[in-house]
Amino acid sequence: MKMTTGKRKAAIFHGAGKPFKVKSYPVSAPAAGMVGLSLTASGICGTDVHIHDGRLGMPDFPLIIGHEFLGKVDAIGADVTQDGLGRVLAKGDQTVACVAIPCGVCFNCRRGETASCMAFGVTYAQNAEEAPHFFGGLAEYLYSPAQNLVRLPDGVDALAAAAVPCGGPTVIRSCAYGGGLKAGELVVVQGNGPLGLFALAWAKAHDCRVVMIGSATNPLRLELMQAWKPELFLDYRKADAEAIKRELSRMTDADGADVVIETSGARDAFPLGLQLLRKRGRYFVPGQYSNSGAVTIEPQLITFQALQIIGSGQYTMADILTYLEFLARHPEWQPLFAKMVSKYRVDDVNQAMADAKAGKVIKAVVTA
Ligand SMILES: [Zn+2]
Ligand SMILES: [Zn+2]
Repeated sequence: MKMTTGKRKAAIFHGAGKPFKVKSYPVSAPAAGMVGLSLTASGICGTDVHIHDGRLGMPDFPLIIGHEFLGKVDAIGADVTQDGLGRVLAKGDQTVACVAIPCGVCFNCRRGETASCMAFGVTYAQNAEEAPHFFGGLAEYLYSPAQNLVRLPDGVDALAAAAVPCGGPTVIRSCAYGGGLKAGELVVVQGNGPLGLFALAWAKAHDCRVVMIGSATNPLRLELMQAWKPELFLDYRKADAEAIKRELSRMTDADGADVVIETSGARDAFPLGLQLLRKRGRYFVPGQYSNSGAVTIEPQLITFQALQIIGSGQYTMADILTYLEFLARHPEWQPLFAKMVSKYRVDDVNQAMADAKAGKVIKAVVTA
């Protein structure tokens, strides 16, 4: 198989609020340790929406944003034989490219806690005008360090994997930090977007009982959610804390949920979540991914209810493989994940971003 030659397109980010401009750049052979990937699917994450809204800062030069790139190995640089987890890597393999580079030397990295590196670097956020150009997700091509790649296991549909390649591992890591999920536990998931739907699937796979609190406005979202058979769905616009607690009390002898997972990113979700937990309940908070402002809580609740609050905003390379192997173990669910995805071409990134912001689609993904 010969590597790609000629030019490929990239959607160039020129600053918050400004439209992306699509530009073509030449593809060249990857440097040592690097891999050239042809686009399979590249998602627009909530983080990209925050970046485009100006709520997360980026360097002041033209660059390619997007950090959920799935691509086929097109060309391999010198010294590359394996992916980031030591698995054999060859041309034509489908991979997930992780953008985070743990420093390896900070307090947490030295203790193996690379998901909580204190000095993360990223593979992207480089000047797109400078060769070799392709260092961000929203493009037809990407250069990634081989150590940042995870090869897809057999039996995983790349489009299904493109649904939550970042949100899935993030939820998995926050659950792991919080001691995991146990069979029979009553889990409340706040939010029924991509992260919330993944949390639902993850909890069902652990034989938990799940109550979803989310929005009822998107029919496809509701249809997918119901396919995973939550015990109960409550519209967040209609159900206040007292009403939700009444429903929970019907489902458990405890005074609330064993676990609440906050995926909505809405700031008001947090004080609500605290109130839904049983004594000694665990609150996993992977969804608050931008500063949406302050809320009022009653800290005495944490003391008297002996609550455990566990945050996490990143994941390890191994968490990506856990996500992919989860999909491989559940072929019956892969079509549901694939159905979350709305496809766009690189040329239509502005439309994709607008649709993502307007909540018109569950997951906007740029495909080849
Ligand atoms: Zn993301
Ligand atoms: Zn570190």
